[in-house]
Amino acid sequence: MKKDVKSSSPSRWGENTKLVRGGLDRSPHGETSEALFLNSGFVYDEPETAEKRFAGEDDGYVYGRYGNPTVTMFEERLRLLEGAEACYALASGMASVFGALACQLKAGDHIVSSKALFGSCYQVITSILPRFGIRFTLVDGSDLDAWRSAITPDTRCVFLETPSNPTLEVIDLAAVCEIAKAAGASIVVDNVFATPVLQKPLSYGADVVVYSGTKHMDGQGRVLGGAILSTRKFKEELLKPFLRHTGPSISPFNAWVLLKGLETLKLRVLHQSQSARQVAEALVGLKDITRVIYPHLDSHPQADLCQRQMAAGGTMVTFEVTGGKEKAFNLLRHLQLVDISNNLGDAKSLITHPATTTHRNIGAEARAAMGITDGMLRLSVGLEDAEDVIDDVKQAISA
Ligand SMILES: *Cc1c(COP(=O)(O)O)cnc(C)c1O
Repeated sequence: MKKDVKSSSPSRWGENTKLVRGGLDRSPHGETSEALFLNSGFVYDEPETAEKRFAGEDDGYVYGRYGNPTVTMFEERLRLLEGAEACYALASGMASVFGALACQLKAGDHIVSSKALFGSCYQVITSILPRFGIRFTLVDGSDLDAWRSAITPDTRCVFLETPSNPTLEVIDLAAVCEIAKAAGASIVVDNVFATPVLQKPLSYGADVVVYSGTKHMDGQGRVLGGAILSTRKFKEELLKPFLRHTGPSISPFNAWVLLKGLETLKLRVLHQSQSARQVAEALVGLKDITRVIYPHLDSHPQADLCQRQMAAGGTMVTFEVTGGKEKAFNLLRHLQLVDISNNLGDAKSLITHPATTTHRNIGAEARAAMGITDGMLRLSVGLEDAEDVIDDVKQAISA
């Protein structure tokens, strides 16, 4: 069914082509859209085939926990977009974060992480992994000296999120990767906020990139999913043995939704980023808004780095209102268009109050250390007309 020479060299395709055709593996029926293989097991014509597959001498499928043709299409498409050697799709973003860390760490190892983290990433590093004897140090991600003094020859792994949730702090990937590499530590980057469209951590020296597919890849609020991108060696030697036997496999249905989501990922992320920038600019200087954080605004504390490292400012805008929680809740109550939701990257604009939702469990002290105030709101800008989102936030502030 292959048409021509060009169709057999997908790694040379442009990004848009990769997103629409990457990984496409048509069945003998020749379906236009990618097929959904909703099966858990596989059958073999001969007992020898089963024997070969279990021996690793034939790479056909054996069981849904190990792999599935629809999941493979999703993995291959994302792998091409990221420019990675290998991709492993998982049930959620957190399964991916935990898997990427736990597959390579053992009791006695040390991990250094930026402290401005997604709430569940914070729990994994500060409370779950330590139960297995893994020590951690949290640093201010924008302070390179802090990374230098925290990373020691004992440090097995460095974890970071940039831009961070919800403060949109940006970390210098090239600089932190250089520091970590010099100490022999592997670098895992949570690239959920930037998406592979705006930032490619592997090109700055990261070893592993993790995603929540639940966010921009689906982008329409339907399914959970995640992925780990790495070298082939990391996948074969560390991920496969850990993940196949612990079982955080993605459902083929969810992988199919994410696979189809990738087709429009770039269009959506670039459009939403453009709208987010307009929203951020419109909020600056409004009465009762004390601070607007957006990576591609000149007022961002690391504006130069943001311009260098991110192709656009992203789909998220964080801002602070005077009057703390009460005023923030008042704004939320008066929104007529934007929905109150802790999800992000969706076609629908969503807003959340991090201090009482995503970052509630970490406690007031950790929130203060991350710069999360009671008047802070995090807005995920969707695909509506930017003017309508701006009007809605404006009327809710003055209500
Ligand atoms: C949502 C999110 C995750 C976790 O993803 P799930 O799919 O919800 O498990 C991890 N990191 C960041 C930055 C996120 O925003």
